[in-house]
Amino acid sequence: MRIAMIGSGYVGLVSGACFAQFGHDVVCVDKEAAKIARLRQGEMPIYEPGLDKLVADNVRAGRLSFGTDLAAAVGDVDTVFIAVGTPTRRGDGHADLTYVYAAAAEIAEAIRGYTVVVTKSTVPVGTGREVARIIRETQPGAAFDVCSNPEFLREGAAIEDFMKPDRVVIGVESERAREVMSAIYRPLNLIQTPMVFTNIETAEVTKYAGNAFLATKITFINEIADLCEKVGADVHDVARGIGLDGRIGRKFLHPGPGFGGSCFPKDTLALAYTAREANAPQTIVEQVIEVNNARKRRMARKVIDFCGGSVAGLTVGVLGLTFKPNTDDMRDAPSLDIVPALQTAGARIVAFDPEGMEEAARMLPGMTFARTAYEAATDADVLVVITEWHEFRGLDPRRIRQLMRQPRIVDLRNIFNPEEMRGLGFAYEGVGRPAPRT
Ligand code: NAD
Repeated sequence: MRIAMIGSGYVGLVSGACFAQFGHDVVCVDKEAAKIARLRQGEMPIYEPGLDKLVADNVRAGRLSFGTDLAAAVGDVDTVFIAVGTPTRRGDGHADLTYVYAAAAEIAEAIRGYTVVVTKSTVPVGTGREVARIIRETQPGAAFDVCSNPEFLREGAAIEDFMKPDRVVIGVESERAREVMSAIYRPLNLIQTPMVFTNIETAEVTKYAGNAFLATKITFINEIADLCEKVGADVHDVARGIGLDGRIGRKFLHPGPGFGGSCFPKDTLALAYTAREANAPQTIVEQVIEVNNARKRRMARKVIDFCGGSVAGLTVGVLGLTFKPNTDDMRDAPSLDIVPALQTAGARIVAFDPEGMEEAARMLPGMTFARTAYEAATDADVLVVITEWHEFRGLDPRRIRQLMRQPRIVDLRNIFNPEEMRGLGFAYEGVGRPAPRT
């Protein structure tokens, strides 16, 4: 199949490269000329494990190319995927569909011959119909179908998720479009991936329902962690104890500073907004949003309390800034709440993140960046773990202890063993784990 991917960000670039790996001819389009120029030179504009090799292999094989000319790309293909951003609209929490509709209008001008236009971006229910309306209005004679194919990949494991998904959801309303989508995903038949064919509205709701459920699961265990702290229970054992129940499942039961990232915060907000408009308020999701926002704000207080009520004049070493490990994505990361609050309280921040520092430098002014985790710990009065990068788990705590001015750790991801850390002389606090009995 010949595919045009409109938007070459985290989702568009990974999806485009994976479709090329499936054997399709793919052109990834982006309106950011600098991004396309870098891609043409073999440079990745984002950090995603394995992406550079996947892109290079498929460019070499002649199946993957990059361009800024949407019309030229769309005119030559069977299927166009829209993978542009859908951030939160300022003021009301709704998804901002400006980019989706602008892309739809451009696609509408450029369609030649039967084309399936697919929304891969996360879009509120009703968007597919509106995309169809825009195309019909712009080019009344166009032969096309619209389709919704939400993406479930996780940053940091995006290629694996795309190549071996738990399922593929496709909202489609004509047999012809269904055949095209089946042909695109045919390579997944080999690994017997479940394909959920449904109508467009259902596919659109499915994506939001999935993210809202996961955000709820995280928020649930975070509140249980708060209870554990108060009553001397260990949230990890609770999570294991409930997660082994097949009806609950073990994933997404890890406590932390609150969810962030490019999807959960904006998607929960957008779902709540759509649902209120449809007069079917999602009160659980609304509560999740509120609880999570309060939690992120409270994490700085946790650090301050741990330091005896003030961090004024203290040096706080920070490990991890991105919203999760294995990505350079800083969107809605908990660090964006925690670091400024500590700065306002008078702390000097020295931070290290393996991939996120370039982006963090733009979003978090006034911070010093360290070249290594050990450098961030050097002369620190307290060390705060915000993101659980794998490499932090292997740090030598003895060396950290020697480097720090005061051996104190607030581990917001529970990557260290509390007994071991306390045994080495650290004052240590994690999330949802019992304090030592005195
Ligand atoms: P992104 O910001 O990384 O990428 C979007 C890209 O689209 C940008 O490079 C932008 O320049 C480009 N663009 C915008 N308008 C364009 C146009 N008219 N023509 C060409 N290019 C255009 O965003 P992302 O993280 O890839 O997310 C894209 C969509 O996928 C969102 O709806 C998001 O919710 C959804 N999604 C994201 C993830 C994730 O983990 N990032 C996972 C699943 C779904």
